[in-house]
Amino acid sequence: MKTAWEKYLKNTKPVMDFCEGYKTYITNAKTEREATLEAIKLAKKAGFKDLYSVKKIKPGDRLYANNRDKNVAFFVIGKKDIEEGINILGAHIDAPRLDLKQHPLYEDNGLVLLDTHYYGGVKNYQWVAHPMALHGVVCKKDGTTVNIKIGDNENDPVIEISDLLIHLAHDQMQKKATNVIEGEDLNALFGSIPKAKTKENPVKANILDILKKEYNIEEEDFISAELEIVPAGKARDLGLDRSMIMAYGHDDRICAYASLMATLEMKNPSITSACIFIDKEEIGSVGSTSAHSTFFENCIAELINKQTSYNDLKLRHAFENSHMISSDVSAAFDPNYPSVNEPKNTAYFGKGISINKYVGARGKSGTNDANPEYIAKLRKVLEDNDVSFQTAELGKVNQGGGGTVAYTFANKNMEVIDAGVAIQNMHACYETASKVDIYESYLAYKAFLKDFK
Ligand code: MN
Ligand code: MN
Repeated sequence: MKTAWEKYLKNTKPVMDFCEGYKTYITNAKTEREATLEAIKLAKKAGFKDLYSVKKIKPGDRLYANNRDKNVAFFVIGKKDIEEGINILGAHIDAPRLDLKQHPLYEDNGLVLLDTHYYGGVKNYQWVAHPMALHGVVCKKDGTTVNIKIGDNENDPVIEISDLLIHLAHDQMQKKATNVIEGEDLNALFGSIPKAKTKENPVKANILDILKKEYNIEEEDFISAELEIVPAGKARDLGLDRSMIMAYGHDDRICAYASLMATLEMKNPSITSACIFIDKEEIGSVGSTSAHSTFFENCIAELINKQTSYNDLKLRHAFENSHMISSDVSAAFDPNYPSVNEPKNTAYFGKGISINKYVGARGKSGTNDANPEYIAKLRKVLEDNDVSFQTAELGKVNQGGGGTVAYTFANKNMEVIDAGVAIQNMHACYETASKVDIYESYLAYKAFLKDFK
């Protein structure tokens, strides 16, 4: 098996071209909604049609189903019946961030701030004193939705959560890292000009005037809004040799993009290809747009119905005969923190897609532990397609751990394994990945969709 770097050194162009596409995607996809809608745009360009707009399906059809703009599935229909199983790629598109509360706006000593509630696993101290952007939607009583995207255009203002100056941080510096910045203190600075001739909360009054003028929203509209504070700025090449990418939200939009690209390239597969983008993974896969939602199951039922005729047994067969790669990121070895890993079973930058038989915590708690029969078949497909891969676990025993969506699909009695790009600084404002690993993951996903039987 050639290494990822050996392949790269022979021809750098495919890797660099693929990663430019990814950088554009990740820069434009800072929320689960943006990740969904950008993906649908790419799919439409590649000939995908809304599943609900077609009456019957036939081999070669390219379809997508959009669940509430936050969860989407893509299908390329195979020659075999859906009942005989599907090759599925599943990635999550939600990422840690700071959500605005329903009553976010307040004025304090001439400053207006936005109160937040963090989402997902966040080290609070990483999210302060950075330029941040505000993305999301405000849904109004009249049924219209206002899209908000402030801070990512070069000419936009940014927002920020302040940190205490070092000069006055004597008390703060004695605290444990978990308490250095308290969750309730993650308040973002949003304005400071007072409205003329206004006695009560003049700065807030001025901000509300701007919101009304520029976005036609009132303070009470925040009640039905979904607004996320995310790091501002574009994805950037990292390293003098430009071998890596630093961006917000690699976990897990990096695997989502690689999975989508692999799916868009499928033409007339023998087994139906599927790719699903999932929301709410970072908070436990709960809710209507999560991996526990019946959305994907409903899609499969629709496909069966549009292919032959629906019955419950066919749906159950479809799941039992399916194979899935839960395409999620893994933790890359970091020379600054070598002690958290066990070196034989760790993912490294540049060694290709990282396959995790299991993740979980303590005694493998909460993980899907992939079956060796399945791994053996997958190894063969990857080797036959010259894909560079490595195997890893998430840190050494009892160091910590984490979960993925793998078990939710495995519970439907299909074969599932985690495999994706290894990254550094997972869940920080900016995460880092190796370009060759992104490309090898895409090659792995393509090989899986095409050749896994
Ligand atoms: Mn993840
Ligand atoms: Mn995560």
